[in-house]
Amino acid sequence: MKPENPDFQIIGGGLIGLSTAYALLKHGASVRVIEARESVALETSFANAGMVHASLCDPWNGPGVGRQMLGSLLGRPSPMTLDLRTLPSTLKWGMEFLKHSTQARHWSATKANYALAHYSMAKISNWRVELNIEDDYTGKGLLKIFRNLQTFETSAALTSKLQALGLQAETLGGKQAAQIEPALAPIAGELIGAIYYPNDYKADAYNFCTALARAILKQGGEIITDMPANTLIREAGKTIGVSTKAGDFLAGTTIIASGARSAALLRLLGIRLPMHPVKGYSLTFPDIEFPDKVGPKLPVVDDGLHCAVTPLHGALRIAGTAEITGFDTSMTTKRLAPLLEMLRDVYPELAEGLTLKDGQAWHGFRPVSADGMPFIGTVQPGLALNTGHGHMGWTMSAGSGVLLADILLGQKPQTDPIPFKMRRL
Ligand SMILES: Cc1cc2nc3c(=O)[nH]c(=O)nc-3n(C[C@H](O)[C@H](O)[C@H](O)COP(=O)(O)OP(=O)(O)OC[C@H]3O[C@@H](n4cnc5c(N)ncnc54)[C@H](O)[C@@H]3O)c2cc1C
Repeated sequence: MKPENPDFQIIGGGLIGLSTAYALLKHGASVRVIEARESVALETSFANAGMVHASLCDPWNGPGVGRQMLGSLLGRPSPMTLDLRTLPSTLKWGMEFLKHSTQARHWSATKANYALAHYSMAKISNWRVELNIEDDYTGKGLLKIFRNLQTFETSAALTSKLQALGLQAETLGGKQAAQIEPALAPIAGELIGAIYYPNDYKADAYNFCTALARAILKQGGEIITDMPANTLIREAGKTIGVSTKAGDFLAGTTIIASGARSAALLRLLGIRLPMHPVKGYSLTFPDIEFPDKVGPKLPVVDDGLHCAVTPLHGALRIAGTAEITGFDTSMTTKRLAPLLEMLRDVYPELAEGLTLKDGQAWHGFRPVSADGMPFIGTVQPGLALNTGHGHMGWTMSAGSGVLLADILLGQKPQTDPIPFKMRRL
């Protein structure tokens, strides 16, 4: 029998909500997941780039981001684009985002993110083994390739600072990169250099989520789908549950893990979460003919093109772009065509003859906090948060779940929780 009012209920069944639920269950707590969609992991955790990468833990608001965003308004190519029509709703978060782009703040967030990402990668591996998860994991590392000397040097400098914290990395020339990933041979001559991160890897986040959901149900947890939480219910200064179309769901503690939509529930309590949706896309090509049936083996991030190409389940997925455009769900050819162009730039031979119609298009909204770090911890009595993981949600998933479970159950956290407190901003 499931308890009517479990110890914890988690609003959102994506990577973060499911990881939190599983971590709490492992401690013997009773849990319920409430998910708005018809099934779990259909939002941002559905078709992301599939990279588990402590190496890319630096927030996107590094020094110079303001110039880049301004450039995007003037039509210059930029990793981040800003839709002017959304400016009124973006302005406050945008100013905070820029405020945190100083060298010192950026490095401090990078260090905190690295610690959580590193911790999380070990937890993901443990869960993969203990639950026998088949998520197309391949532990062959990740390659970041460069076509521009300045960005190569900047990235190499950051990598060497992270190496001092324990990150494994190797700086390579273009030809050496093609030895690690032979599918890059046709463009090896165009590369200024590359950095190889042997401990990063690729795996399918959606498969991981569905396996976690099965484990949660098997171990006595509850998952209710097609059930958007409408408001938080408060009584005597404490959050006691949520209201939904099917009535009220009460629990000892309610945890908001609703990805980019987390701010909405808090707003109703008069609490502002400094977080904003940043839209990205992926295109998955399931039917590529690989020469001699040998395709790319590992994820490749093209720094100049701001995209990642990941082999998953025999298909090739290209993911990228960062648009600040609110919750605009449109997917136009104008937005998707550049991704196919990028695939052609990385793997010209494999992409030959492909059209947009051959790919499965997807978009997701990254939950991006103003300082580039997630929010993990309690907010008020009966209310906690696990959200704001930006471009790192797959990598930080299990670690964030375990960290919040430890905080809520009064266990000693095994990684520093302080940087992720909501009240830091
Ligand atoms: C293009 C792209 C590529 C990416 N690549 C990578 C990568 O390679 N590696 C990496 O580490 N990260 C990557 N990310 C980031 C990662 O996918 C996200 O950080 C992660 O999916 C966020 O998980 P989440 O559980 O917080 O949010 P979601 O997956 O969005 O889950 C939130 C859930 O809450 C539900 N929900 C929302 N509101 C309510 C409500 N009111 N009531 C009930 N349910 C609600 C939603 O339906 C949803 O299922 C990428 C993101 C994008 C967009």
